[in-house]
Amino acid sequence: MTTSVVLFTRDLRLHDHPPLRAALDGSDAVVPLFVRDRAVDAAGFAAPNRLAFLADCLHDLDAGLRERGGHLVVRSGDLVDQVCAVAAEAEADEVHMASDVSGHAHRREERLRDALGAGGRRLHVHDAVTTVLAPGAVTPASSDHFAVFTPYHRRWSECSVREALAAPRKVRVPDGVGSEPLPGRSDLTGLSPGLAAGGEREARKRLTAWLRDGITGYADRHDDLAGDDTSRLSPHLHFGALSPVELVHRARAKGGAGAEAFVRQVAWRDFHAQVLSARPRASTADYRTRHDRWRTGARADEDIAAWKEGRTGYPIVDAAMRQLRHEGWMHNRARLLTASFLTKTLYVDWRVGARHFLDLLVDGDVANNQMNWQWAAGTGTDTRPHRVLNPLTQARRFDPDGAYVRRWVPELAGLEGRYVHEPWRLTGRERAEYDAYPDPVVDLGEGLDRFKRARGRE
Ligand SMILES: Cc1cc2nc3c(=O)[nH]c(=O)nc-3n(C[C@H](O)[C@H](O)[C@H](O)COP(=O)(O)OP(=O)(O)OC[C@H]3O[C@@H](n4cnc5c(N)ncnc54)[C@H](O)[C@@H]3O)c2cc1C
Repeated sequence: MTTSVVLFTRDLRLHDHPPLRAALDGSDAVVPLFVRDRAVDAAGFAAPNRLAFLADCLHDLDAGLRERGGHLVVRSGDLVDQVCAVAAEAEADEVHMASDVSGHAHRREERLRDALGAGGRRLHVHDAVTTVLAPGAVTPASSDHFAVFTPYHRRWSECSVREALAAPRKVRVPDGVGSEPLPGRSDLTGLSPGLAAGGEREARKRLTAWLRDGITGYADRHDDLAGDDTSRLSPHLHFGALSPVELVHRARAKGGAGAEAFVRQVAWRDFHAQVLSARPRASTADYRTRHDRWRTGARADEDIAAWKEGRTGYPIVDAAMRQLRHEGWMHNRARLLTASFLTKTLYVDWRVGARHFLDLLVDGDVANNQMNWQWAAGTGTDTRPHRVLNPLTQARRFDPDGAYVRRWVPELAGLEGRYVHEPWRLTGRERAEYDAYPDPVVDLGEGLDRFKRARGRE
C-alpha cells in the first residue's frame, strides 16, 4: 500500500485542494496533517482571534474528512520535525503541500524538502492553492515582480485560471497515526466579542449568499461604511477555507459590473502576494524608503494609545478602531483611513499600526496587512505616496449620514447630522452633553504640515 501525507497550512478545505487531489490520485491512502507550528507562536503571530478561527476551521475540516471515511491528524511543535515524524510513522513516500509567499514559508519549504529528502522522501509543492495565480506567473519585462497594480491587473486578467477541483468523495487514512486533540475556542481568552465563525461550511454558505445577494451591488456600494456591503470573505480566504480560484470562477460566472469590481479586488490579494514573495524583507522593512524619521517619545506614545483605543477625537477613526477591537475585522475603507491617519496625520511608523492590526485582525495576513500598510504609509507600491486621506472628507463621503459612527461610538449616538463627524464644533450645553467624547489629538492642518515637512514637500 502506498501512502502520502497532505500537509494543510493556510488551505483548510476539501473543495478545490490540489495537494489533496494529487495525493489521493497517486497513492492508496493519505494522512491529512495539520501542524501547529511553534515558529508561528514564537513570531508573535498567534493572535487569539485567529487561533479561534483556526480552531473552527480545523474542526470543520476534521468533520468533512470524517464524512468521507477519514480524519485529521493534528500535531504541534517544529513543523519540519513533525511532518518527518508523521511521514515515517505512516511509511509515506511523499508529502504534498501548498506553496506560500512569506520568508517564513520559503524557509520552511526548503527545510522540509531537505529533511524529507534525507529520509528518501519527496516534497511536492503545489501553486495556485492560496492565490489565484502563482507569484511570478506574470512578470514585467524588467523585473521579477510587478510594483504597480494597474499593469499587474491587466496581465492577471488575461491569464487563464486553472479549473476548480471537486471535493473528494472518499479519503482513506491509514491506521496507527495518532493525533493530538483538536484545539478548541474554549481554551482561548481575549477574543473579540463579535468574532465571525470559521470553517469551510461557513465559508461556502457565505460565498453562496454573497453571489446571490451581495456581489451585484458591489461596484456601487463597496465603500459605504455603514452599509457593510462587502463580502467579508477575507478570513475564509486567509485560512483557505475558501479557494480563491473557485471564488474567481464563480464570481466571473455571475458576471456584471459588481462581479468585475469584486474580482479586481481579489487581484489585489495576488498582487501583494507576488510583491512579498519577491521581496520577503518588505514584511518589516520599507519597500521604498522615504527616509522617514517617524515620531517617537511620550507624545507619540500617547497618540498611539489614543489611536489603538479609538479615542483620537475623530469619530470616523475611532469608530473604525472600535470595530476592529469588537469584531476582529474592519471595512477596507476604514482600514485605509485609519492607516493614513496613523502614518501621515500622526506621523507614526507603519510597523506600529501593522502590529496592532495583526494582534486583532481575524484575516491578519503578512502579505496583505504589511503591504497594505506600506501602501497607506507611502513606503510601498502606491504611485501617489504622499497623499493624505483627510478623515473629515472621508467621513462625509463614505459615512454621509453618520450611521457608522453612531454604531461604533455610543457616546455620539444621540448626535444628528454633520456634528456627528465634528463634535468639537458643538458649543455650550450641547458640547457639555457630549463631553465623554475626547477632543481631537491633533489639528488636521498641523498634522498635514508636519507630514509635508517630514517628507520634504513644503
Ligand atoms: C491597512 C490595511 C491593512 C489590511 N490588512 C489586511 C489583512 O491583514 N488581510 C487581508 O486579507 N486584507 C487586508 N487588507 C485588505 C482589505 O482591507 C481586506 O481584505 C478587506 O477589507 C476584507 O473585507 P472583505 O472580505 O469584505 O473584502 P471585499 O471587498 O469583499 O473584497 C474581496 C476580497 O478581495 C481581497 N481584497 C480586497 N481588498 C484588498 C486589498 N486592498 N488588498 C488585498 N486584498 C484585498 C480580500 O481577500 C477580500 O476578501 C488591508 C487593507 C488595509 C488598507
